[in-house]
Amino acid sequence: MSGWVVVAGLGPGDEALVTPEVRVALEQATDIVGYIPYVARIPERDGLTLHASDNRVELDRAAHALQMAQDGKRVVVVSSGDPGVFAMASALFEALEAGPAQWRALDIRVLPGITAMLAAAARAGAPLGHDFCAINLSDNLKPWALIEKRLRLAAEADFAMAFYNPRSKSRPEGFARALDVLREACADARPVLFARAVTTPQEELRIVPLTEALPEMADMRTVVIVGSSLTRVIDTPHGPILYTPRSA
Ligand code: SAH
Repeated sequence: MSGWVVVAGLGPGDEALVTPEVRVALEQATDIVGYIPYVARIPERDGLTLHASDNRVELDRAAHALQMAQDGKRVVVVSSGDPGVFAMASALFEALEAGPAQWRALDIRVLPGITAMLAAAARAGAPLGHDFCAINLSDNLKPWALIEKRLRLAAEADFAMAFYNPRSKSRPEGFARALDVLREACADARPVLFARAVTTPQEELRIVPLTEALPEMADMRTVVIVGSSLTRVIDTPHGPILYTPRSA
């Protein structure tokens, strides 16, 4: 039996948004590796071992997956959303680069998923319909000064922006500072979308002007989309539609 590793995205939450190719990989797997809440989405069955681990051990988890594949297992490493967006695919390749030479001959595939900002954008309308960028607001793996620099330059370039990991209990101050930087750099009342737990039963969407955005509107289950200077709201009887026109 020859082993392999698939790094798969499970999408934002709704099972209907797991792609058919990810489903097939999950059916063929002998081992599932990932962060506890993502592994909890995989039903148990005979012949399948679930390896759930804590959030901060990405490199150990990646090395474990590669070693199991080397031993002949069929391993799926699961991420939420897309595995290449602030998630396990890069961690796997970091472990591959630093690991034993024989790992490089392994069969490794990355299967995309629907990332949080795209699911959130689709729910709200089309806020990412023109040029945009995505920024991880966690300073666990990079200095805060770099985050602030990117926020200022993205605002200057007039991108719409999607923020992942906006605010956590261990980093309560960062997002408040990010909003201050944006208010200063943008100096207008462009709309901001707070999209929480998108496509799950806990989904909450809220659109407010940048001038009224509060840090408490975001948590770790929220993706935040700040519009460009052109992003606007259309009022309809079904609620507001947020969109960015395609021409600047
Ligand atoms: N790989 C994931 C992102 C992992 S970082 C993806 O592609 O979506 C984790 C962050 O993603 C969270 O802090 C939040 O900002 C965002 N996120 C993930 N799932 C979400 C969902 N269902 N609704 C809103 N935001 C979500």
